[in-house]
Amino acid sequence: MAAQDLIFGVVADDLTGGVEIASLLVAGGVPTEFRIGVQHGEPEFDAAAAVVALKSRVAPVAEAKESAAEAANWLRRRNPRQTFFKYCATFDSTPEGNIGCCTDLMKEIVGAERVIFCPSFPEKERTVYNGHLFVGRDLVSESPKRHDPLTPMTEPDLVKVLQPQTRHGIGVLPWKAVSSGAKAMARIVEELVDSGRPYIIADAICDADLEALAEFTADWPLVTGNSTIAACFPAIWRRRGLLDGHPAPKRLGPLRGPGAVLAGSCAEQTISQLEEFRKAGRPVLRIDLREALSGEDPAAQALAWTENHMGEGEFAIATSAEVSAVNELQERMGRRAAADLAESVLARIAVGLVERGLGRLVVAGGETSGAVVNALGISRLAVGPQKRGSIPIAQGDLGRPFGLCLKSGKLGPDDIFADRLQAMEKGEI
Ligand code: ADP
Repeated sequence: MAAQDLIFGVVADDLTGGVEIASLLVAGGVPTEFRIGVQHGEPEFDAAAAVVALKSRVAPVAEAKESAAEAANWLRRRNPRQTFFKYCATFDSTPEGNIGCCTDLMKEIVGAERVIFCPSFPEKERTVYNGHLFVGRDLVSESPKRHDPLTPMTEPDLVKVLQPQTRHGIGVLPWKAVSSGAKAMARIVEELVDSGRPYIIADAICDADLEALAEFTADWPLVTGNSTIAACFPAIWRRRGLLDGHPAPKRLGPLRGPGAVLAGSCAEQTISQLEEFRKAGRPVLRIDLREALSGEDPAAQALAWTENHMGEGEFAIATSAEVSAVNELQERMGRRAAADLAESVLARIAVGLVERGLGRLVVAGGETSGAVVNALGISRLAVGPQKRGSIPIAQGDLGRPFGLCLKSGKLGPDDIFADRLQAMEKGEI
C-alpha cells in the first residue's frame, strides 16, 4: 500500500491553512498524511492524500519558491493524480509573490497546461465575481483586510494582483459560465488558453459554484485555491471509485495529561476567547513583553507560575495584547523583533511545559503555531476531521501522543479553548 499513487498532493502556504485542508479531506473520508515543512526522507506512508504545510505566504520570493518546489517534488514521488496549491481565501500575498511564482514552479513540475485559481469561501462571505474579490458586500480593498499588517489587500481585481507575480497570462472564468455548467466553462477556458492566458481566475459566489468548478477541474493536474474547493473533491473521487480500497481515516484516540493554551495572536477574537476561558474559572497569565526589555525572562517566570497550576486543571498563557501595547513594543524594538520575541517566549514555554508532562495544547495564532510546532520538533501530525464552525484537533508524536489544536487568531467561537481541550481528552471521530 505504501507505494500506491496519491489521489491528491497538497502544498499549503501556511501551517493553519494546511491543517484546515487536511481536516476537510479527513471529514470527506480521505486518509490524509500531514507533514510540516520541507521533507527529506522517502514519502513512505499509507494514505490517499498528502498535505505539506509550508511557511511561505510572506517569505522572500526565492525562499518561497525553493520550499514550494521541494514540497511539490517530494509529493511527485508518489505520483499524485492532482496537485493542489492551497492559499488564503483573501488571496493573501505580497506585491512580488508568492501565489503566482509558486504556481509557476508547480505548473512546470506537474506539466500542467492550464491552472485554475479559486480562493472563494462563500460560507465566510469571501466571494469572487468578475475576477474581483469581495468580503461580504465590500470589495476586499474596502474591507478591514486593506489594513492587514503583513498582506494589505488594496487591489480587488485578482488579475491585477496576480499579474505582477507571474510570467503567464491571466483570464477570468465568469460566473455566467460557472453557473451554466461544464460546456460553457470549457468553451471559455479553451478561448483563454488559446489566447495565451492559461491562468484562470474562477468566479464563485456560492457553494454550488464551487461544486461545479470542482467537477470541471477534477482531472486537471494542478488546481489552486482555498480549501473550500478542495473539500468538494472527495465526493467526486468516491463516486468514481478512486477511494475504493482505501481505509477510512484513523480516529484520534483520547489523550490524558495536563492541558494548556498558549496565545500569541493579538486578534480581538483571541482576546475574547482568553476572557471567556478566565471567566469560566481557569487561570490565565498575561505576559507583558515590555518587561523583557528590562532584562526579565518572561518564559522562565511563566514556567515558574505553572508550577502551581500543572495538574490542577487547564490554564492559559498569553502574550496577546491590545493595539496600544503592541504598538509600543514595536516602536521600541521594531515590528519583526517584537514578533520574534513573542514567538520565542511562547515557544520556550511550550518546550518547558512538554518537559513537565503537558499532554494537550491549544495554540492561538498562525505564526505562533508555526513557532511552537517548530520548537517542539513536530513535523508530522495525524489530523482530525473538520466540523462546521469549529477548529480541528490533531495529534503529534513526542515519544508519546501529544494533542494539538492550532487556531488562527480570528477564528473560533468564544469557548473554543475549553471545548478543544476537552475534545482532545475525549478523542474525536
Ligand atoms: P494571528 O493568527 O492572529 O495573525 P499570529 O500568531 O499569526 O496571530 O500573529 C501574531 C503576531 O504577533 C506573532 O508574530 C506574535 O509573535 C506577535 N505578538 C504576539 N504578542 C505580541 C505583543 N505583545 N507585541 C507585539 N507582537 C506580538
